[in-house]
Amino acid sequence: MSTIRENIREIRARMDAAALAAGRDPKEILLCAASKMNDADRVREAVQGGVDCCGENRVQELTDKLPKGAYTGKPVHFIGHLQTNKVNKVVGAVDLIQSVDRTELLAAVNKEALKKGIVQDILLEVNIGAEESKSGFTPEETARIASQMGDFPGVHLCGLMAIPPISKNKGDNRKYFAEMANLLVDIGRKKYDNVHMVCLSMGMSDDFEDAIAEGSTMIRVGTAIFGARNYAK
Ligand SMILES: *Cc1c(COP(=O)(O)O)cnc(C)c1O
Repeated sequence: MSTIRENIREIRARMDAAALAAGRDPKEILLCAASKMNDADRVREAVQGGVDCCGENRVQELTDKLPKGAYTGKPVHFIGHLQTNKVNKVVGAVDLIQSVDRTELLAAVNKEALKKGIVQDILLEVNIGAEESKSGFTPEETARIASQMGDFPGVHLCGLMAIPPISKNKGDNRKYFAEMANLLVDIGRKKYDNVHMVCLSMGMSDDFEDAIAEGSTMIRVGTAIFGARNYAK
């Protein structure tokens, strides 16, 4: 079995190849380790192995691994479904909340950041496949909320995140990735207050090359770094 460090090296090579094939600068694309269900030691190994940042899904895992220094030296992001009654544990503790997926959460994060006297960087999560089972804004809602960001001085909108449908065939998600890239550019052109559309977080273990081909600036990779997650444990 390959080590975390070797896996990261291999992913980097694939990222660089995908970027070059798309005529992009490989330095434009960041690798976020989706570290759910991996303990602090394994996350530290990924940080030392050269990922650009880590992403946690669960508040409990974040607050457990933070004091253990799992992320020391790299930014940590929140990428999971966040309950409003837990925003106090996340706002200010992470560099970026990627998964702002409803207006109620946006308001709660803004309020908590103002209370703490900070500005929290966020992404809006887009339900690009319009799936019942997934949270996130429609593209229309996303554009509207971006236009209102001046009303939320406790947050700073840095871009968009998406988890497209599980694809049956390789390449199925390219159209969603392309839609996301268009949405990012369209919103960016409007020059709204408190909005800088620099981050497009999309692409996971199975489809990150397609995401890079369509303009991703951050891929979130779990399985390809850490191996398969054992949900039975
Ligand atoms: C788990 C997870 C990933 C990574 O998924 P893999 O298929 O294991 O690479 C990316 N983004 C989010 C939000 C996740 O929860």
